[in-house]
Amino acid sequence: MKGRNDVLTRAENELNLDQQSDTWSGPHVEGEIPGPRSVEYLARQARTESNARAYPRHLPIAIAKGQGSFVRDVDGNVFIDFLAGAGVLSLGHGHPELVAAVSRQLGSLTHGLDFPTPSKDAFVEAQLSMLPPRLRSRMKLHFCGPTGANAVDAAIKLCKTATGRGDVIAFQGSFHGSSHAAMAVTGLVAQKEPIANGMPGVHFFPFSYCSRCPLGLSPETCTTNCVTYLEQSLHDPNGGIARPAAVIIEMVQGEGGVIPATADFVRRVRELTRALDVPLVVDEVQTGCGRTGTWFAFEQYDIEPDVIVASKGLSGIGEPVALIMYDERLDAWAPGAHTGTFRGNQLAFAAGAEAVRIIRRDGVLDNVAQRGRQIADRLQGLAGHPWVREVRGLGLLWGVELADPYTGSPVGTVARSVQKKALRWGLIVELGGREDSVVRLLPPLNVTAEVVDRACTILTDAIEAACG
Ligand code: PMP
Repeated sequence: MKGRNDVLTRAENELNLDQQSDTWSGPHVEGEIPGPRSVEYLARQARTESNARAYPRHLPIAIAKGQGSFVRDVDGNVFIDFLAGAGVLSLGHGHPELVAAVSRQLGSLTHGLDFPTPSKDAFVEAQLSMLPPRLRSRMKLHFCGPTGANAVDAAIKLCKTATGRGDVIAFQGSFHGSSHAAMAVTGLVAQKEPIANGMPGVHFFPFSYCSRCPLGLSPETCTTNCVTYLEQSLHDPNGGIARPAAVIIEMVQGEGGVIPATADFVRRVRELTRALDVPLVVDEVQTGCGRTGTWFAFEQYDIEPDVIVASKGLSGIGEPVALIMYDERLDAWAPGAHTGTFRGNQLAFAAGAEAVRIIRRDGVLDNVAQRGRQIADRLQGLAGHPWVREVRGLGLLWGVELADPYTGSPVGTVARSVQKKALRWGLIVELGGREDSVVRLLPPLNVTAEVVDRACTILTDAIEAACG
């Protein structure tokens, strides 16, 4: 049996590899994926870790190092990383100034529960400064356990407490996390089926997913009937749904397959919730912190939410942190109503304040808009491809939906093959949407034009090769 020394030797070997010349300007993959060393790691992982492990099943590599928009596996292969920690690494892997900020903080204070601290203070100030001015003065912040799901739970609890109501409206296709309550407001049926007795009182309504209209309409015959259905259901005294505690929505359904809500849909959901005095919770876990080109995606829809949920990109470097920001009129919960030991990650606060400074200084949001346009241009040609149903996105959140050209059905197996080929050619992408038929791009927000160009070439080649 291998012992502790073997594990230490392995770690030292990785370190030695790290010290070799290490500036990567492009992807470089040799031989089969997984390579021989990744095979060993993956086998050990399969022996020791849960059956619920996810990413390495389809992206079978063991990762040794990250740098900017690239990662290197333990076999020395370098990939363009357009998964970026599921959208967490907004300034890429190991941004030197964020590393410096975290390193400085490491020596002074790492964990602070929910005490005020200088690094938290700076973080809060930075976060408030990124809000639209009208929201700045009336939003309260609550730090949650450091995951998106925990913050979604907090948002639901807050709205239930403030309204004294119990029901929640969510949208089909949504993803809000894997905790018990976050999963309850998530559309994924397969995750729910094995678990009896989830959180009660959740009602799902259709989302403005126009390329697969849930009401079977087409743009020529539609007047955003999906939201009309919601309006009528909530106004109908015989509609069966008590006035809800909250409506929770993503401006772009990310895991759901990169589906930007239509402007009319969001405007009318906001009008309806305001008319009924129902708090509107906007889940910006994936779309927030610049991902769509504005700090929060709701800014592009010209609405003001009652609750904003933020997490992934807040620290810019993957230090865990999550929070909700909400209208002060909802601040009705009692001291200790949503606690959590890890709500005071000072490393995340230090990195997050620095990330905001860098994003402003370097015009990163402009880069998001420019690179987003570049992706739109580069992938435009795919729109006519028989297997491509739609190419869509906002900022640096993009999806290519694949469908059978004859039946129109989602084709997850083909998308999986695209993912596999892209990996072999040096690009990491994730899938999402119905039956995982949407190839998703989530690059770091400071990605360069050259890397985007290379990634788009690999992706289009992979689609051509997988679809024949
Ligand atoms: N909400 C949205 C919109 C998300 O995309 C995610 C994660 N993909 C979550 C919530 C859950 O975040 P976490 O995985 O950190 O719990």
